[in-house]
Amino acid sequence: MRPETTAYVALGANLGQPARALREAFVALDQAPGLRLVRASSLYRTAPVDAGGPDYLNAVAKVATTLNALELLDCLQAIEHGAGRERPYHHAPRTLDLDLLLYGEGRIASPRLVVPHPRMGQRAFVLVPLAEIAPEWVAPAQLQAVADQRVARF
Ligand code: AMP
Repeated sequence: MRPETTAYVALGANLGQPARALREAFVALDQAPGLRLVRASSLYRTAPVDAGGPDYLNAVAKVATTLNALELLDCLQAIEHGAGRERPYHHAPRTLDLDLLLYGEGRIASPRLVVPHPRMGQRAFVLVPLAEIAPEWVAPAQLQAVADQRVARF
């Protein structure tokens, strides 16, 4: 058995029934082979950043996994597709978006995967739910820097 690694996944949705999509995604993260859900943040309503459409719902999941980082990305993309995600254009509204934020202490820069996620530090919709369940990963100054972005508990 491979040892488990702790990873953090950002969840977002702004089409269809976003709350339902996120709750189903938490279940899917717990049921996928090699993956279990350790902790789920609250859901947050957020204004779109670099994207169109209605407000988003966002959350962060702490997972424990025996998958390596690319296998975990495959799994996240399979869950996205299972939720009916379509990508008609870049930054299009989406039924479910899953991003790998952190994979253990790992630093990865491959064509398919960059970890820690390069934009997580600029996004209140990631930092606020992450700080709720893993405050050790978010410095107060980081939260301060994104305090102008609208994020409200759902
Ligand atoms: P998005 O449209 O924001 O979901 O971006 C998905 C694309 O970003 C996929 O082609 C991934 O291969 C790539 N990607 C790079 N790093 C990451 C990451 N940390 N988490 C999720 N997708 C990533």
